[in-house]
Order: sequence, then structure tokens, then C-alpha cells
Amino acid sequence: MDKKEAEDLKKKLFNNRENGWKSKSDEQKNEILNYAKGYIDYMNYSKTEREIISSSKKIADEHGFKDISSYDNLKSGDKVYYINRDKSMYLAVIGKQPMENGLNIIGSHADSPRLDLKPNPLYEDAEFAYFKTHYYGGIKKYQWTTIPLAIHGVIVKTNGEKITVNIGENIDDPIFTITDLLPHLAQDQMKKKAADVIEGEDLNLLIGSIPFDGDVSEKVKLNILNILNERYGITEVDLLSSELELVPAMPCRSMGFDNSMVAGYGQDDKICVYSSLTALMNVENPEKTAICIIADKEEIGSMGNTGMESHVFDTFISELLNKMEVNRPNLLDKVFCNSKMLSADVDAGLDPIYASVSERNNSAHLGRGIGLNKYTGARGKSGASDANAEFVAEVRKIFEENNIRYQISELGKVDVGGGGTIAYILANKGIDVIDCGVPVLSMHSPYEVTSKLDLYEAHRGYEAFWKNA
Ligand code: MN
Ligand code: MN
Repeated sequence: MDKKEAEDLKKKLFNNRENGWKSKSDEQKNEILNYAKGYIDYMNYSKTEREIISSSKKIADEHGFKDISSYDNLKSGDKVYYINRDKSMYLAVIGKQPMENGLNIIGSHADSPRLDLKPNPLYEDAEFAYFKTHYYGGIKKYQWTTIPLAIHGVIVKTNGEKITVNIGENIDDPIFTITDLLPHLAQDQMKKKAADVIEGEDLNLLIGSIPFDGDVSEKVKLNILNILNERYGITEVDLLSSELELVPAMPCRSMGFDNSMVAGYGQDDKICVYSSLTALMNVENPEKTAICIIADKEEIGSMGNTGMESHVFDTFISELLNKMEVNRPNLLDKVFCNSKMLSADVDAGLDPIYASVSERNNSAHLGRGIGLNKYTGARGKSGASDANAEFVAEVRKIFEENNIRYQISELGKVDVGGGGTIAYILANKGIDVIDCGVPVLSMHSPYEVTSKLDLYEAHRGYEAFWKNA
């Protein structure tokens, strides 16, 4: 066989996993870069789960979605949502087929790793005022010192008044930071294991240093409380009923000389929230009912009444069935058993600097498109929701017929580590589920990196799933 024939045969038989940018026209490249601008903008107004839900509600409202409570009954083509305690959200576009035939679901999560304030956060030491924190999700603690931090969240007073806090984002706002030891005196610290270099109880936010002018003790703490009282009308006891989150006070930005990437906080998993939500906005009168989940608490195990382990999602689907006037005993179980889902969560991208933890043939590469994980789990797939081959083939078919660049990979080498998503929770209901999201570098760090091509392919892939599954 001559060289040309052999090359052709290779092309025909190999799984050609090449860089996605190569096959994009200039026009397509422009579409990708433009879409990323909208994403970057959304990210800069939405760093916490509450902010994501409020930004997402705005997008849904602009596209004709209404709160489910405003409908007495539902019909094909209607667009509704339900917001759960301002932290999670379910949206639906009612399909032409009976819901009994199954739903097409895409589910992502709005929460990201961060530092939360403790219930009694404020103290003074050596004439500095600090907030104590308790970290949320899997972080490398040393990454959260010596970076600008902003405070986002709510303080709820006993009279029900809810005060929204957002300080550190505006260029005129002060920021906050957690200090680290100077290298000159860090001989002992530098010998510690990375996990212990910064201890959890040392993640204390520096928030002030001017003493109150008066004859009292704890003058700096008093001065801070006085400022908080003037600004928010609160006293120290009101912090007991607050949810204040520290997030990097760094804007999400376009990255690289070629502008091919996005750098920013919380892309796990807001990149999948944005790409799926904006895809849903393009879905009109689908065959099957399209459901979009924006979950909370994924990073700490999906527990609590805003996490996917709660039954609130089931209640939402039951409510759809009630308002379509088709509900009957056990119908919900049947609906779920006939449903299909993409669990839209980020994937670990291969980082050549740390390639030793990845197996190159089975790791996701930035720029090769949306990344599917057939299974997650750790140590012999323990805890994995392993997608059925039949369903993987269905998803492949949709992506291939719609020219979506995709890659199927796993999270790192065997026995090196592992992870999980919300996939297993929905799989437990009988739904066919596969993890399907965007590969990320520096995952769970204050500044994660993604490829704009993968972001766009995810957006197109989600739309194709809702329209064709
Ligand atoms: Mn995630
Ligand atoms: Mn995560």
C-alpha cells in the first residue's frame, strides 16, 4: 500500500482527536470569541450561587420564562422556572410529546469553592481586626492567601430584613486579603507538607486597623462594628444569621496573546451553567420537555435542601405533571426511567506541566471540544455513575450529526485520585446520565483556565441534545 492509501486508511480507522481550532473558519472563530464575551460579562456579575441564580433569572425573564406559580395549567411550548431559596433553579420548556416519554435534562451547579465566614467571625488581635473563615469545598488552602478577596452574601436580621453585601468588586471599593509569612522567616513553614503550609484556622481575613477613639478595650473591633453599623445597620449579633462568602476580587478575563482562553474564578461550574442556560434560551417547542437544572452545594456533597440530594427537583417535575393535568400514581418514577441527562460539570484538562497525573490517551485536552466522562469515581470506579454504552452511543450520534467537537476521557490516571458530580443522584432515579462539560486547568483554584472553543462547543452540544435526544 502506498503512503497516500495508508494515510487515508489511518484517517478512516483512527479516532482523530485533533485540535478543534484547526477546523474552524474565521467566521466561526469570531462566533466563538463573541460568545465568550457574553460569558465573561456574566461571570463578572455572578460569583456566588445567589448571584448566579439572580443573573440567570434575568436571562430567563428576558426570554419569556415565567415562575411556575404564575401558571394554573401548562401546555406544550410553555417556559417556566422554579427558584429554590434563591440558591438553585430548575427551568423547563414543555415539549410536544407527553412527559411520560421522558425528559431531556441538563444539570450544572452554581456553587464554587470559596471561604465562608464563621458564625462568630469578628475578632481583634494585636490591633488588627479579622474575620474567621471556614473553607467551602476542596481547595488548596495556600492558594487563598495574598490575593485580593471580596465579600459577597447576605445578612438577615430577626425582623426578616435581608441585607445584600457585595464589597471588593468595584474599583473604588476596598478589598481584603489573608496574609502569609515572609520567606525570610518561613524556614520551618517551607518544610511542611503543602496541605499544612496554611492551616484552616489561619485563613483569617484582615479587615481593619484603626482603633475607635474612646476609652474602651478592643478598639479596632469596635471601630469595624461601628462602620458595619453605619453601612448596613447591623450589630455583631446579626452576623449569626448571615451567609458571607469570600471570593477572589479578580475579574474574569480573556487570556493569551491569541485570546483563546478564559481565566477567572468559579468556572467550575459556572461555565456549564452559562453554556447550558443560554442553549435553553434557543429551544422552542421541543419534541420532549427540556429541563435545565442549576444546582447548589455540589462542591460539598449535594446535601441540604438546595442540593441535588433533596427532593425539591422531584417536586418540581410533579408540579409540571399536575399543571399539565396528567399526573397519576407512580407517573413520576416512569418519567424519570424514560429520561436522559447530561450532567454538565467541568472536567480536568490535561496540564503538560503536571502530565504525570494524567494518562494522555484518556485525558481531556483544552481546545478539543466538550468533554464527556463515561464514569468518575476513584480506586476501581468506586462511587461512579458509569454511563451505559447504549446511551453514550446516542449522545455521540447527536454530537456527530450536529458537528459538535467532543472528547471522551476520564479524570486522571488510575488510582491517582478521583471525583464526583451530581450524575449519580439523577442516575439513582432511573435516568440515563453521562457527565459532559468543559475541561479546566487549575480547577478549584482562585483563577481557573478554560478554552473558548470548548465553551462554545458545550453551548452548541447542549442545544443539540435538547433538540435531538
Ligand atoms: Mn463541578
Ligand atoms: Mn468542583
